[in-house]
Amino acid sequence: MNNIKKLIQQQFTNEHVSSINTTQNNIQNTDQSVSSTNTDNIETPSPEKNTDNTEDEVEDPMDNIKKPSTKDTKAKAKTQEPAPVFIPPVPTDPQLLELHNTCLTCKSCELCDSALNLVFGDGNPKAQLMVIGEAPGADEDEQGRPFVGRAGQLLIKLLNKYGVQREDIFIANILKHRPPNNRNPLSSEISACTPFLRKQIEIIQPKLLITLGNFSSQYILETKTGITKIRGVVQESSYGMVMPTLHPSAIIRGAYPVDLLEKDVVTALQYIGYDVTLED
Ligand code: SF4
Repeated sequence: MNNIKKLIQQQFTNEHVSSINTTQNNIQNTDQSVSSTNTDNIETPSPEKNTDNTEDEVEDPMDNIKKPSTKDTKAKAKTQEPAPVFIPPVPTDPQLLELHNTCLTCKSCELCDSALNLVFGDGNPKAQLMVIGEAPGADEDEQGRPFVGRAGQLLIKLLNKYGVQREDIFIANILKHRPPNNRNPLSSEISACTPFLRKQIEIIQPKLLITLGNFSSQYILETKTGITKIRGVVQESSYGMVMPTLHPSAIIRGAYPVDLLEKDVVTALQYIGYDVTLED
């Protein structure tokens, strides 16, 4: 009986050891398998292969972010440019300065509520020639200066051609604040604002006024006749002597040839004593 027990114990011990060995072998094999698998999956770059391409093959999360085109970048750079800062001119002449300051605080009509700046007018306080337009436009409103847009540039270019600089003349408008969307001035606005223009003319005492276009010409000359019929001739008015002519914006629109405006400018300069003749 004892022999049987010993035999069973011996058998159990042998089987147990065998089982442990088998398990250890399996674990070892598994480790080797895992080890082999991991190693196989890592691609060892060959010396000839350009490893930079590896990066190309890997999806870059940044690729999912839309890269701005050159155009977008330029547009962004453009929008990031600081907006120009305009400082409206302030008269140096004491009388004009006092009038300017009165206009700055004027609330006689509603235009001061919608306009960005007062466009009082600027130039030589002792100018022989004073140019009068209708009302400030968008550029003028933004800068607080009259006739800085394309129409004004055309007029100044013509004057420059005959030796007159912007600083030599005085430029103003019937209205000192811009009407919304460049609409025509209302009669109530004209009544409220023109005393300032009259006062400006009294202070500057120009030899001649040049009125531009229908609106200012008809107002100053107190007529309803159209500009094409009254332009080109120096005439008397309650504001002084006047040369009515076409508005430069009508020339830019192509409504009239620039020759007509140039002819009137030369006539005006001759009237105030400039020795100029119409050039080709
Ligand atoms: S437009 Fe003339 S009247 Fe009207 S608020 Fe301006 S300055 Fe005064």
